[in-house]
Amino acid sequence: MSEAASRALLERMPRLRGTVMTQVPLSRYTWFRVGGPADVLVLPKDEDDLKTLLEGLPADVPLTVIGVGSNLLVRDGGVAGVVLRLSPDFARIRPEGGTRLRVGAAALDAQVARAARDAGLTGLEFLAGIPGTIGGALRMNAGAYGRELKDALVEAVAYDRAGARHVFTPEGLGMRYRHTDAPEELIFVEALLEGRPGDRAAISARMDEITGARAATQPIKARTGGSTFKNPPAELSGGRKAWQLIDGAGCRGLAQGDAQVSEQHCNFLINRGNASAADLERLGETVRARVRARLGVELDWEIKRIGREAGESEKARD
Ligand SMILES: Cc1cc2nc3c(=O)[nH]c(=O)nc-3n(C[C@H](O)[C@H](O)[C@H](O)COP(=O)(O)OP(=O)(O)OC[C@H]3O[C@@H](n4cnc5c(N)ncnc54)[C@H](O)[C@@H]3O)c2cc1C
Repeated sequence: MSEAASRALLERMPRLRGTVMTQVPLSRYTWFRVGGPADVLVLPKDEDDLKTLLEGLPADVPLTVIGVGSNLLVRDGGVAGVVLRLSPDFARIRPEGGTRLRVGAAALDAQVARAARDAGLTGLEFLAGIPGTIGGALRMNAGAYGRELKDALVEAVAYDRAGARHVFTPEGLGMRYRHTDAPEELIFVEALLEGRPGDRAAISARMDEITGARAATQPIKARTGGSTFKNPPAELSGGRKAWQLIDGAGCRGLAQGDAQVSEQHCNFLINRGNASAADLERLGETVRARVRARLGVELDWEIKRIGREAGESEKARD
């Protein structure tokens, strides 16, 4: 879409108090540092502003919400319509009723882990090493070291595409391994999380253990999107994790241009510098094909791929 077409889209949008930009490269907002422009990028100022956007945005305009892009591969042709990123107003963290934290969906998982530690609450340490936001964690049911967001979730607050506010229980969202059944159109704005009273020093020690283990085993400083593929169900993979299948199919370190399967953790793809989204997606598909051909196991993408290929019309969301 051209700048002129983006401007025409702006004309059809309600007036907002937050930030509104046209033709913004989404590579600035993704960990992979790849991705074409958003026709329009919006950071609503607060919940009222978000409601104004949703109530006033014509139904035919596609709307895509992103967090900090740590699980996203945005294709090189960019994303049609409006891309929404929550502003810092949605990042508040407040203690509630002794063992709970009410957290905005733009809060970083690591900030929430630290707030829980400061409040003397255990059970949220696993968030210390996940680089996304609470919104992304709700959508992905993010987890690590035996815990997932659903284990700590009391309720989640979300807006639908028409601007109506809903409160969900974890059961209502259908949360399971790296997935929720909640409709794609939902925009999470808040979560209520529950911990248990714990010893601050022990919580700190557990968080240090988690972040240390990650630094030793994952390319956390690289341009990456975290785990590329979900671990397949044990009955289909003979109990092998995705990284073991990728390794077994001979893909550790495999490179196509600047896209590479990490040597350190082979379920991570890496942009070594100038990879495009197409390079990374093609490499991911090569890995899937080799694992299928050599080991007979189908890998499913965990990374969310969105947008259109360079010079092509919009692809369906995966
Ligand atoms: C180095 C590294 C390590 C990682 N380790 C882990 C790990 O241990 N465990 C794990 O589970 N993940 C891990 N990840 C993946 C990633 O951090 C998580 O999936 C995270 O929850 C994504 O959050 P985000 O804010 O970056 O979301 P994004 O990547 O921006 O978006 C991911 C999905 O969430 C949706 N989304 C984002 N915000 C909202 C919102 N407010 N409302 C509705 N939908 C929303 C997007 O539409 C998209 O579908 C890792 C990633 C990296 C780069």
